[in-house]
Amino acid sequence: MISFNRPPHVGKEEKYIAEAIANGKICGDGAFTRKCSDWLEKSTGAAKALLTTSCTHATEMAALLADIGPGDEVIMPSYTFVSTADAFVLRGAKAVFVDIRPDTMNIDETLIEAAVTERTRAIVPVHYAGVACEMDTIMDIARRHGLVVIEDAAQGMLASYKGRALGSIGDYGCYSFHETKNYSMGEGGALFIKDSKNILRAEIIREKGTNRSQFFRGEVDKYSWQEAGSSYLPSDMNAAYLWAQLEMAEEINADRLHSWNLYYECLKPLADEGKIELPHVPDGCVHNGHMFYIKVRDIEERTMFLTYLKEHGVYAVFHYIPLHSAPAGRKYGEFFGEDRYTTRESERLVRLPMYYGLTEDDLMKVVEKVKEFYRM
Ligand SMILES: *Cc1c(COP(=O)(O)O)cnc(C)c1O
Repeated sequence: MISFNRPPHVGKEEKYIAEAIANGKICGDGAFTRKCSDWLEKSTGAAKALLTTSCTHATEMAALLADIGPGDEVIMPSYTFVSTADAFVLRGAKAVFVDIRPDTMNIDETLIEAAVTERTRAIVPVHYAGVACEMDTIMDIARRHGLVVIEDAAQGMLASYKGRALGSIGDYGCYSFHETKNYSMGEGGALFIKDSKNILRAEIIREKGTNRSQFFRGEVDKYSWQEAGSSYLPSDMNAAYLWAQLEMAEEINADRLHSWNLYYECLKPLADEGKIELPHVPDGCVHNGHMFYIKVRDIEERTMFLTYLKEHGVYAVFHYIPLHSAPAGRKYGEFFGEDRYTTRESERLVRLPMYYGLTEDDLMKVVEKVKEFYRM
């Protein structure tokens, strides 16, 4: 069986975790956490990167930093992972879902402005598959309406938009280091802060509402409770696991892009025959091979296709039941305008096996099975 995902593991993780233990400081903000945050700041150009316990938590922090509260509205796509909405709904806000573009599966930037009301506080673009949303348009709308932009860049590490790293363009950006992402620490994430005036408050929120970070830097002589916060620090052992992969980030990225390009090349004939559709990467966007998806005719064909692959040793998956059609989405959100593409396109999408270390042999077996299905 060719599995859909394998958590990234490059070989030095165990050594670094042992070092973290030997350092005698396994809680948050130890030596490996600092190495990772420095690396992430250099890689993205963000004023600050804070490691968090997940991307969900990074997004929750951004919602707190943006002072999102009851009655506020937050614009986002419905075709996304639940965390994008959860972080704001937890603060009492309403999720306002806008349709996606069928070519990238990202929020349709041309539909956002019409969804803005006097209650709108933030826009949350999700860079699906590590392919950027149309950020110039989104930032312009936000500027004109005084809105905060929080990028869900969970899948976006090492991807860029017009030369700028995903996660560093909006006021806040969020990465995920879950085991299903390109780089992992088991569970974990990072929050990026663009404006240095927001850094101190972010550190306080992340440290149970205390100014302990300032205390450790020797900036204050005792620390105390400053405001409502929580515990969003990952342990240094998790950061040690991540560090091993950041050291090899370019290699991991190149390996994934190689697989992505090979899939694309091999499946192109099937797309040219009109049997399937392949992903689209707009000009100015550099992606990171996070995901290789194809689109089949409709949900009936997809069910048969996935069953066929599984029976022939290939584990492929689909994802994202659009949030507006799920029970919590109906309760906490509302779809603005017409659902032209969100439901229809989500029902056509299939993700093929993709992970660091996927062999060409296995990849070609997947391609062969996909082609076989369409020859039947
Ligand atoms: C994976 C993912 C998340 C959640 O990441 P966690 O680190 O598991 O909290 C959020 N949004 C998107 C788009 C994701 O793909």
